[in-house]
Formats: sequence, structure tokens, C-alpha cells
Amino acid sequence: MSLQKLIAGNLDYLEADAIYASVREGTTKNGQKPYAVIVTCSDSRVPPEHIFSAGLGELFVIRTAGNVVGDFERGTVEYAVGHLGVKLVVVMGHTHCGAVGAALHAHAEDAPESLAVLVEEIADAIGSERDELTACKLNVRNSVDRLLESTLLTELSEARELMIVPAIYDISSGKVEVLA
Ligand SMILES: [Zn+2]
Repeated sequence: MSLQKLIAGNLDYLEADAIYASVREGTTKNGQKPYAVIVTCSDSRVPPEHIFSAGLGELFVIRTAGNVVGDFERGTVEYAVGHLGVKLVVVMGHTHCGAVGAALHAHAEDAPESLAVLVEEIADAIGSERDELTACKLNVRNSVDRLLESTLLTELSEARELMIVPAIYDISSGKVEVLA
């Protein structure tokens, strides 16, 4: 049933708008030139292309539960910055994040092994903080720090050739707040 829903949705997309076809053709022929990297949560309420009114080929997106960053995610950002020349990375957490909630309520021990590692990463980032929104912000800042474990990303940031911006998306209002 869910698969049929996806296939039907793809047919709608194919029939939707001729502009998609021309953008697909152009980006296939000329390659992608996304203007930003978005590192965010896999939560279904946080789709970057919707939130930023962006289209095909515009955003280079990495999503994990709780927008955590490890080697694979950092490597993906290095690719976007180093090979595609993207100069803006937004690390965007969100309100009511289930992964942050799990870390706040110490559910790591109940989780399957890989998920437990992920929740522990968030738990370490938020420490003794109990306020959910503040915890989300601390988790975003931790992901920024994890990106900066990359020599490439650190050097470009220090040379002001790359901006790495922390942000929080409010899933109720739809507003993105850039964190100072
Ligand atoms: Zn989340």
C-alpha cells in the first residue's frame, strides 16, 4: 500500500509540470550546482525543499535522525564543499525532535544498537540540559563541531570561504531561526 502510494506519487510528479522535465534535462547534462548544503533531521515534518521553497538541483541535503554528524555525513559535506563548490552549510535542528527527546529521557539503553549510539551522541551533546528547545540547540552546535573535525571545512571556514550556520526549524510555525 505504501509502495503503491509512492509509485502513484511519482506518476503525478512526472505529469506535474513541464519545468521539472527541463530542469532535469539541464541538471543531467550540466551537473548539479546546489547553492547550499542542509544537514537536518530525517523527521518527515522537516523536508528542506519544502521549507526553503527550493527545487531540483538547488539543495544538497544530508538527513539523519537528530541531524547527528559522523564520518559519513562529514564526508558528504566535504564532497559538496570540495567538489561542488558549495559555500554555505546550514545545520538545522527542529522543535519536538524525537531523537533529542529520546536523549533527554535517557532512552538510549532501550534502543537497538546503532540507534543507541546515535542517541548517546545527542545525550553527550546536551549534557545535563533539561529544556527541550535548548537541548535541540546544543545538539545542533555539536553537529557543527563534528563538521569542523574536517580539516578542509575548518580551513575554508577560517578563510571565510565557507559559512557553517546553525539553525532551528519550528515544525509548528514553519519558521527557520538562524542561531547567533
Ligand atoms: Zn528530529
